[in-house]
Amino acid sequence: TIGMIAIDTEGNIAAGTSTNGANHKIPGRVGDSPIPGSGAYADNEVGAAAATGDGDVMMRFLPSFLAVEEMRKGFQPDIAGQYAMRRIAKFYPKFMGGIVVVNKDGQYGAACHGLSKFHYSVGSEDLGGVKVLTTPCINEY
Ligand code: ASP
Repeated sequence: TIGMIAIDTEGNIAAGTSTNGANHKIPGRVGDSPIPGSGAYADNEVGAAAATGDGDVMMRFLPSFLAVEEMRKGFQPDIAGQYAMRRIAKFYPKFMGGIVVVNKDGQYGAACHGLSKFHYSVGSEDLGGVKVLTTPCINEY
């Protein structure tokens, strides 16, 4: 899955995902990626998130929506993403997944679970291009 979040010069925020789905999926499987709030979610007043991983598990928890709602409460993007991952791990301690999270001010972060680390990239004028970042994953519940 490729998840993307974009903020334009007027502060409009968009998020989306593109995926080939899961291995050995059954015909008609939808998965998490196209489900708003699960694969991705954006709110101009707060920020956005996009997720990847075990879609059949993750889609039950709307992790992208949850991360955005945590930011609405005032949490930073990385903390909001960790909260969304922990919510899933509480019920599925072996799930694998990651989430990228950006707030409306352009602050960003990521969180993941069930992997050793998670790579994501960020691009902006301030950064002078694109930077690849790595975040360690949560592996305990
Ligand atoms: N979440 C996707 C799915 O389950 C797979 C992925 O993220 O690679 O369809």
